[in-house]
Amino acid sequence: MPEGPEIHRAAQRLRNALEGSVITHVECPYTTIQGQEHRFLGNQVISIEARSKAMLIHIGEDVLYSHNQLYGRWTVQKNSTKPKKTNRSLRIKLQNETHTACLYSATDIQIIEPWEIEGHPYIAKLGPDVANQNVDFEDVLEQVKNPKFGRRQLSHILLDQAFLAGVGNYLRSEILHSARIDPSRKLNTLSEIEQNNLAHSAIQVTQLAFEQRGVTVEKGLYDLLKQNGMSRRQARHHVFTRDGLECHECKTKIVHTRLSGRRLDFCPSCQC
Ligand SMILES: [Zn+2]
Repeated sequence: MPEGPEIHRAAQRLRNALEGSVITHVECPYTTIQGQEHRFLGNQVISIEARSKAMLIHIGEDVLYSHNQLYGRWTVQKNSTKPKKTNRSLRIKLQNETHTACLYSATDIQIIEPWEIEGHPYIAKLGPDVANQNVDFEDVLEQVKNPKFGRRQLSHILLDQAFLAGVGNYLRSEILHSARIDPSRKLNTLSEIEQNNLAHSAIQVTQLAFEQRGVTVEKGLYDLLKQNGMSRRQARHHVFTRDGLECHECKTKIVHTRLSGRRLDFCPSCQC
């Protein structure tokens, strides 16, 4: 399932291809937007933004809202390139003079007006989006100190988009390792230093994943590990999917567990 950094990268690809241009061809085969081609055709793409796992494409006076859920996927191609064959179901195709963007397989697609965005049921409940490059540290810290979430375990709360948007499963393990916090701790047991570390790590690790296409170790270390024969899966993270391998910080073996129903890996020495 794509996490915040992956959706934000998809938004960047769409921006590079479409933003500022006029839509010259549209197809809307999906039921919730069928027959609505005229709302986009001939209009300018004003802006494109990701909000957690939702994409908002402002075209003319309308906003195309889509949420990818498990299987949704945006593709972008130059018009001069032969389209790749796919068995996925096309939901919307947007074309300008140079590029074609297609959304496949998503099931939550709507056309809304700009004033409806903040009140949209999915968007209204999102916490600060740590995958957004303009996220404010103070907003994230405020959420970490928010007593509303205080009694919940960190392993649980980091998957809740109402707490911090943009975090998914691999980032949960990586953020907790970066902040040196035991995943079974409750939010309201953190010291002030740990609260600061958690807010800082949530932003820093998620943004690194955005910049490095899902890699959460620093580039120099990643290159070294690959040179030494590690697979991408073993080299790309500090702890996630590295159970049985040594922690880069302290050489303790990484431990695998399942918390809140999903895979979580941690270092029992760094995070005790
Ligand atoms: Zn360690």
